[in-house]
Amino acid sequence: MKGRILIVEDEDAIRQMVCLALSQAGYECVEAPDASAAQARIVASPPDLILLDWMLPNVSGVDYARRLRQEKLTQDIPIIMLTARTEEDDKVRGFDSGADDYITKPFSTRELIARIKALMRRTAPHQTETAVEADGLALDPITHRVTARGSGVDLGPTEFRLLHFFMTHPERVHSRERLLNGVWGENVYVEERTVDVHIRRLRKALGPSGHDHLIQTVRGAGYRFSMHH
Ligand code: CA
Repeated sequence: MKGRILIVEDEDAIRQMVCLALSQAGYECVEAPDASAAQARIVASPPDLILLDWMLPNVSGVDYARRLRQEKLTQDIPIIMLTARTEEDDKVRGFDSGADDYITKPFSTRELIARIKALMRRTAPHQTETAVEADGLALDPITHRVTARGSGVDLGPTEFRLLHFFMTHPERVHSRERLLNGVWGENVYVEERTVDVHIRRLRKALGPSGHDHLIQTVRGAGYRFSMHH
C-alpha cells in the first residue's frame, strides 16, 4: 500500500472516479462527501494525504483546510485542493488556506496521481535526510551545507533549520506559532517575534544570490516559501 488518501468531494461521480483511479494505482482510498464526514474519517484513522474540493456544502474546502491546519492531529497532513476553474487559482492561493497544492477541474487522474506522488515525496517525514533544491538554492541536511547556484551560503543553525522547514513545506503559509513548533520544537518557550529576527537573518544570508524573495511575508498570517510571486 502506497498510502491512505482521503477524498472530500460532494460530487459522487468525481469522488468515485478518483477513488477508483487511486485504488488502481495502489493507494487506499477513503471517501467523504463533506467536511463533517471527513472529520469523522480522520479521527478514526488519519490519512497520509487529503484531496479537498474547494466547493463543498456547509463548510467550504477553504475553511476546512484552514481548520485542518490549526489542529495538531492534521496540521502536517498534505492537502491538495481541487478547484473548479483556472481563474480561481489566484483567488484560492489568496485565501491562504494552507493547501500544499492545487489542481484544476477537469483534471486527468494521471495528472492527479503524479501530483500526489510529488507531494508525498516532498512531505514524507522519513525523507527529511534528503537534499532539497529550489530555484538554484540547495540544502543538504546530512552535510549541513547550503549553496546558492553553486556557492556556499553561511547560515546559523536556526536559520538552517528554518530554511530546511520552509523548503520541505513549500507554498504553504506558516504562522509564527507553526514555525516555532516546527523549527524550535513544541516545548520550547520562545517569543513569536523571535521568528521575525531569524527570518530577517535568513533573508539577509540569501540576499546576495537573490534567493531572499523566496521567503515571503503574508500580511496578518505569517510566512511562505514560494517560487511563485
Ligand atoms: Ca464540489
